[in-house]
Amino acid sequence: MCPFLDSQAKPPRALLDSSEALQRSILATVPDAMIVIDEAGTILLFSEAAHRMFGYDEDVVGQNVKILMPRPDRDRHDDYMRHYMETGEAHIIGIGRITTARRRDGSNFPIELAIGEAQGEHGRLFTGFIRDLTEIQRAERRLNDLQTELSHISRVSAMGSLASALAHELNQPLTAIASYAEGARSLLEEDAPSAETLTTVREALAEASAEALRAGQIVRRLREFISRGDSEKRVERLRRLVSEAAALALTGAGQIGLNFEIRLDAEVDLVLCDRIQIQQVLLNLIRNAVEAMQRSARQQLEIRSRPASRGLVEVVVADSGPGLAPEVAAQLFQPFNTSKDKGMGLGLSICRTIVEAHGGRIWAEPSDFGGTAFHFTLELAEEPQDG
Ligand code: ADP
Repeated sequence: MCPFLDSQAKPPRALLDSSEALQRSILATVPDAMIVIDEAGTILLFSEAAHRMFGYDEDVVGQNVKILMPRPDRDRHDDYMRHYMETGEAHIIGIGRITTARRRDGSNFPIELAIGEAQGEHGRLFTGFIRDLTEIQRAERRLNDLQTELSHISRVSAMGSLASALAHELNQPLTAIASYAEGARSLLEEDAPSAETLTTVREALAEASAEALRAGQIVRRLREFISRGDSEKRVERLRRLVSEAAALALTGAGQIGLNFEIRLDAEVDLVLCDRIQIQQVLLNLIRNAVEAMQRSARQQLEIRSRPASRGLVEVVVADSGPGLAPEVAAQLFQPFNTSKDKGMGLGLSICRTIVEAHGGRIWAEPSDFGGTAFHFTLELAEEPQDG
């Protein structure tokens, strides 16, 4: 039988010798706040994370755990403990719940509390694990913000589609203007144009100018739409851009077996860009890579960075997918170039527009994993020291 499961068996000597060191290392490293109390509610152990969470610099061992609770729990805690000792009726022990705790400075904060019980040499011991929910709430708020930004991102995509649609619309008046002008020019080539010819020319020119006005309106509509989505360049941390975009791109995509790695060079972390737009580029590239690998036996996705020519960083999104189909590769980054049934073929053309508007370049190469690697460059906010 395993000696640890046999309550009669003695723990190995080495374990006993190191138990104090072991305890110290657990208290220093356990990520949640961990507190051990005795039957009277006296604190026996208080982890480093608990010190940070509750704002205590000094030692709190020996004090009653009530100091960590706001009223009314603080006043009732002795009764709770007594009641549990007498009846065994648990409200929290072994169940866990969300409640409120009190920091040293008197401020309250929401926590998730889980308590376990053990029999010690001198009575029962209770171990509490506490998680600060403000951190989680903050993370949730951040996620909400990201989702709001994502809707902006889809507007940027919509802008790409709109631009293509408008380009198509513009083509019609421009073609009409060209043919009216051409018609008028050839009519005027006659030596002495008749009054009738001149009337036709006048009509053609009127039509041409009406078409030109129509084209102007279309351009104005596009400009209005774009001006609502102003691009703002700021100093950003590439690490943050990449990790957020990856989290968004990989959320809910159900990639079981995906081996995902981010290897960014810390020397080239500060970049000058519109965060939302560059995240849109990353999002498109990561989603494309994940989609490309759907049927691959090996699914390896890597995002890495390295210094490029002076003042630029090169970001690479590499996959182990099947590589680019030759018919797509020939027109990569052109709008409406897609190999997917439901694809729009706009993602990469939008990526190119954004990267080039940032003064960078985007291209594709075979990846080290036998798939595709998309590379793009971005302006650094400051030159690397040894650059
Ligand atoms: P869409 O995803 O709507 O097709 P994109 O412009 O994003 O539009 O991509 C165009 C095409 O490029 C895709 O249809 C696909 O054939 C190819 N492609 C893009 N990324 C990859 C990749 N990582 N691996 C293989 N092919 C890719």
